[in-house]
Amino acid sequence: MVGRNVGDFRQSRLLHRPPRGTPQPIRANRLIEFTFFFKISYIRYMRPPKEKICTYCLKTFEKLTWDHIPPKSWYPQSTPSTVEKWKVPCCNVCNNEYSKLDDKLLRLLAICLNPNDLSSSGIPEKVIASIDPNKSKNERDRRIREKNRNKLIESLIISENIPEEGLLPNFGSQIMHNGKYKLVKIPDDHLFTFSKRLVRGVTFTINNNLIYDNYLIEISYKELLNAIDFIYLVTKHGKQYSLGTGINITYANFSDDPLSSLIRIRIWNKWDIYSMVYRKENYNYI
Ligand SMILES: [Zn+2]
Repeated sequence: MVGRNVGDFRQSRLLHRPPRGTPQPIRANRLIEFTFFFKISYIRYMRPPKEKICTYCLKTFEKLTWDHIPPKSWYPQSTPSTVEKWKVPCCNVCNNEYSKLDDKLLRLLAICLNPNDLSSSGIPEKVIASIDPNKSKNERDRRIREKNRNKLIESLIISENIPEEGLLPNFGSQIMHNGKYKLVKIPDDHLFTFSKRLVRGVTFTINNNLIYDNYLIEISYKELLNAIDFIYLVTKHGKQYSLGTGINITYANFSDDPLSSLIRIRIWNKWDIYSMVYRKENYNYI
């Protein structure tokens, strides 16, 4: 029959329904239809997430949220819209704490970025705008912007020379006309907490595994970790994941253990986070 729509079809099914009380034969196709319907509704209503364990604090919760790794605001404007931004299940407490840390750290790092760099395009401008009191929407917003701007100014250091230790590589140096250098002071715990959280998220996304207390996460911002030629190992054996122009991840398992791994997270083609995840009992062998 031509031009038959869903309504017509239902009607015809109703019309052909046997009178009440008549035993109906079990029809295999009905079962298949139902199974299919159930699967769809399962996927739609049971996500997120299945295990209800927070990727970061590893506690079990009734309800979890999604956390982007790296944070959404860290992706440059040049990121193609087709890039799927990674996210992991986490609890509300972790999500709130990390999002405050993300913003603080982004402000400190963003003012060291070159505005013409495609790998971090749009980020310095966005951060500068976010601390501009003249762009505030209301009085409360103005106070927050001023507070954040003052904190950022407090972190700036003008120095006669560049320190030999504790300098984050690849950000370059900015020399002023008077021969002094502009530096930004970033608390170590901001960097390490941020980095370890990324490692947990990356491991969950690539490996579908949580990092429990029987593992150690080591972080380094230099090229070598405990005298192992990290770059060689990770690039030779690692699998590359590109999240657009600004974020690249290389992940390599380095033993039979599925969790023991070398990870390089490259942000804005500038900040390299090197990480080694390994079992605590193997500590002496590394
Ligand atoms: Zn948590």
